[in-house]
Amino acid sequence: MVKFYNSLTRRKEEVPSHAGVVKMYSCGPTVYYYPHIGNFRAYLFMDNIRRVLKYNGYKLVGVMNITDVGHMTSDADEGEDKMMVASRREHKSPWEVAKFYTNIFMNDAKALNIDLPEHIVPATSVIPEMIKFVQGLIEKGYAYETSKGIYFDIAKYPEYGKLSGMDIKEKLAGARIDVDEEKHSPYDFVLWVKAPKEHIMQWQSPWGMGYPGWHIECSVIGDKYLGDSIDIHTGGVDHKPVHHENEIAQSNCFYGHQVVKMWMHLEFLQVNGGKMSKSLGNLYTLEDLKDRGYEPEVFRFFYFLAHYSKQQNFTFEALDMAKSTLKSIKNLVAEHKIGTTNVDTSEFEKEFLESINDDLNMPKAIACVLKMLKCDRSKDVYQTFLKFNQVLGIDLEEKMDIPQEIKDKAQARWQAKKDKNFALADSLRDEISKLGYDIKDAKDGYQVLKK
Ligand code: AMP
Ligand code: ZN
Repeated sequence: MVKFYNSLTRRKEEVPSHAGVVKMYSCGPTVYYYPHIGNFRAYLFMDNIRRVLKYNGYKLVGVMNITDVGHMTSDADEGEDKMMVASRREHKSPWEVAKFYTNIFMNDAKALNIDLPEHIVPATSVIPEMIKFVQGLIEKGYAYETSKGIYFDIAKYPEYGKLSGMDIKEKLAGARIDVDEEKHSPYDFVLWVKAPKEHIMQWQSPWGMGYPGWHIECSVIGDKYLGDSIDIHTGGVDHKPVHHENEIAQSNCFYGHQVVKMWMHLEFLQVNGGKMSKSLGNLYTLEDLKDRGYEPEVFRFFYFLAHYSKQQNFTFEALDMAKSTLKSIKNLVAEHKIGTTNVDTSEFEKEFLESINDDLNMPKAIACVLKMLKCDRSKDVYQTFLKFNQVLGIDLEEKMDIPQEIKDKAQARWQAKKDKNFALADSLRDEISKLGYDIKDAKDGYQVLKK
């Protein structure tokens, strides 16, 4: 049984599904700047859930939004649309900015071997649906119009705050007067913004020209692709108190019932024990890691070394450890591929499954993999590893990148050994070694490995 921690009920629960199909929604990137490795921890988390569910035989319908309009510089509607800020910074239209960073996001996600959702949907592709949804909320009495836009009236939803554990009655009672006197409460959030002339992205609506608020896109995209019953919703912990509370309020009020069953939140990636930020110069992208000699797969493997519900501390020492562990895993797997003993791997299979199904305990699953790889070299271990690798997503193909010259020398050496011409075999091994490759022998074959 697969059990995940549900942030809403604060309990580990059996994963919900629709007769074996899990409908899953993941909050996606805001495409106004280069995504950093912290962002990618969130998408590796999504990948982790998807692969573990598939490993257990579930089918998935996954959806992720691309925020290309309406996300203000503060999550709570204040400031300016991030796309407008980027557009000015880069002297490009917001559409060009969105296209550029969406491409970078997709390429990085592919480099990390992230199992992407079936539907990836830009907010700007569902403007008519968002308008209809907002209209619905007005008709049902949950939203009202001011001179600035359409707002959600949180006093109408007494359950507001349940996810993050805030008491909305207390909050409303202690509220200071909002600078915007038209709002019923300072905590009411925007659904649709009446656009000032200078806002480039704007659309015709029943309330004049405007653009959507940030939160509405997730309710609407979820509704369009998954309907009014969603099994799992993921995002970073930063989304809990505002974005996800707002999403819950919008969706549950629109339908009159609870839409998302299980909420899952990922804790933040920290750098050297502190926050990642541009001003501290410690905001790394995948490209930065590549420049320092770390392939994306090293960061992918690094993700597995901490539980998603705990902060993970990024340091280059820790990344080095991930790199060397990954390398030794690959080497051991290559040795098992040509192994000749028989090993019963059923206990490892059981332990691996129990670990991943216990709220994605990846550090425990990796420990199990390492234990298994220490066994006598065996094709049974290799086959079991391939099975585990459906979850891990480690690229084993690299081993094929051996240059032809090395392959020829290795073959000549194998022949020399068979002919008992050990002097020639040894000198060929030395040549191969000088060229940066190792040869591992087994009873009935050999393996060439990059040093
Ligand atoms: P954004 O593009 O800003 O909307 O963020 C995309 C995703 O990255 C969200 O799910 C955030 O919660 C997540 N995120 C942002 N910073 C970090 C971080 N340092 N560690 C983990 N996740 C993060
Ligand atoms: Zn969202």
